[in-house]
Amino acid sequence: MDPKMLKEINQQIQEETYSGYIYLAMAADLESNGFKGMATWMQVQAREEKIHADIFLNYILERGEKVELEAIQKPPSSWESPLAVFKDALEHEVHITGRINHMVKVARELNDNATHNMLQWFVEEQVEEEANVGEAVQQLEIVGEDGRGKLMIDREMGSRVFNVPASAPYYPKPGQATGA
Ligand code: MG
Repeated sequence: MDPKMLKEINQQIQEETYSGYIYLAMAADLESNGFKGMATWMQVQAREEKIHADIFLNYILERGEKVELEAIQKPPSSWESPLAVFKDALEHEVHITGRINHMVKVARELNDNATHNMLQWFVEEQVEEEANVGEAVQQLEIVGEDGRGKLMIDREMGSRVFNVPASAPYYPKPGQATGA
């Protein structure tokens, strides 16, 4: 693999791991403020990010290349409101979409078809991620300061359960624990 591509994929393991880390911080903040359903939703989101990181890691290994993990920065620890949490989450997902699109561009320039193919799953996944988080932002904006409305959203979001994505590329590897 071209070293430039490998560097980008190693960097993406960091990006996805940080995603999980910031969502964990968001889940903790939501729960401490009484929004247990939204906290559950964020915990599920964090677990999905671990899978995203694993896919990139497995892919590097499958290509016979070297995994090099980068340092993870400290996420914020508190937010002004659930709306502020989900707005930040949306902004973060837009950033991740930008990263994926950048990697697609690099793969195309290097004529790395295998990496280009693997990335297509993430292209689709990012549409879903932005839509899901965007829906939460929209609903929270609708209810505004209405406490009852916020609790209704909280209850609904609490029903989200973690599922291992069936179609994920390079995941799980044979014998790899999925945590499902
Ligand atoms: Mg992700």
